[in-house]
Amino acid sequence: MLELIQMEMTPKERLAAYARGEEVDRIPTTLSAGETGCLHLLGIPICDYYFSADIMVRIESFLADSTGADNLGMGLGLRTVPEALGCKLAYPETSVSYVEEPALKSLDEVEGRPHVDVRKDGRLPIIIEAFQRLQDKYGDVRTMGSGLAGPFTTAATLYGVERFLKATRKDPEGVHRLMQYATDCVVECCRDLHEILGIGFSLSEPVASKDLVSKRQFNEFFVPYLRQCVERMSEFQNVPSLHICGHTNDRWSEVVECGISGFWVDNCESLCDLKNAHGSSIGISGNVAPVDVLRNGTQEAIAASVRDCIEQAADNPRGFTLCPGCTTPVGTSLDNMIAFMNAAATYGRGARKGCMPQGLQSA
Ligand SMILES: [Zn+2]
Repeated sequence: MLELIQMEMTPKERLAAYARGEEVDRIPTTLSAGETGCLHLLGIPICDYYFSADIMVRIESFLADSTGADNLGMGLGLRTVPEALGCKLAYPETSVSYVEEPALKSLDEVEGRPHVDVRKDGRLPIIIEAFQRLQDKYGDVRTMGSGLAGPFTTAATLYGVERFLKATRKDPEGVHRLMQYATDCVVECCRDLHEILGIGFSLSEPVASKDLVSKRQFNEFFVPYLRQCVERMSEFQNVPSLHICGHTNDRWSEVVECGISGFWVDNCESLCDLKNAHGSSIGISGNVAPVDVLRNGTQEAIAASVRDCIEQAADNPRGFTLCPGCTTPVGTSLDNMIAFMNAAATYGRGARKGCMPQGLQSA
């Protein structure tokens, strides 16, 4: 097994100092792993993860201790809130959960529908317990956080993605009612969990990609609700950041104008272009290819890709976080995750917001 390069700062010290504009030992680096990242390494079926606070704590601890990545905390992912609102999920042994039956059969069912009760609904009580235990274990050295589907992807999941996209043409008013409902549920869920756990949330919107929705659909049904989400969430937590999978470059301006604090782009997009267009307004995260490089690549290929990402965006005026272009894929080896972290430690050494790290010169 590869040996992990040990860092001087704790993740908590690193992130706080980097945010203040001070030099840190290594560029902030995250591995969005959780249920996809390392269950196979510990011989745990993926389906067991979802229902056990013990396993969640074990996995997060394993990732924290063996990779040193700066993030800590279970993601709510794309389906936790939809499940809490009535979607029926399937839980296979060797792959992540998926929606078996959407919560809504008709858009009329939105009217008067209850919102999320984080103390009772779906898997949220298990996740709360796991967060509390992680807080006890790592609270002094790590900052915890989580992420979840934003309103657009939540709405699409509640009604079924295909039917949702069709309805944007056939029943735009119904879709707006559903979007408002999904926005309320997402914001309130984050607010209530923040109240209990003190953590902040980022948003993921895979359904808002250029690969799935036109610019017209995006402007009418996505933008107003993302803006609302950002405004309302910023009242109780840090201004949220956003991830969208796939192609997004025709809608960067709209996304940035919604007021997000940072944008995590897919590896099919250019970090350098994003920096040049919007680096004075937002933090940037990305974007080593998750499957081709992080999971399937050699250690040399991983190091080359990490170096390339850092060269493209580490001098972003509002900061840069190195990470894969999407979730760490199921089946990624621990050696590959360590190779990724070690390349970050090497090329990203001596990092400061707005500057290229010293590690690029000496490496
Ligand atoms: Zn993604």
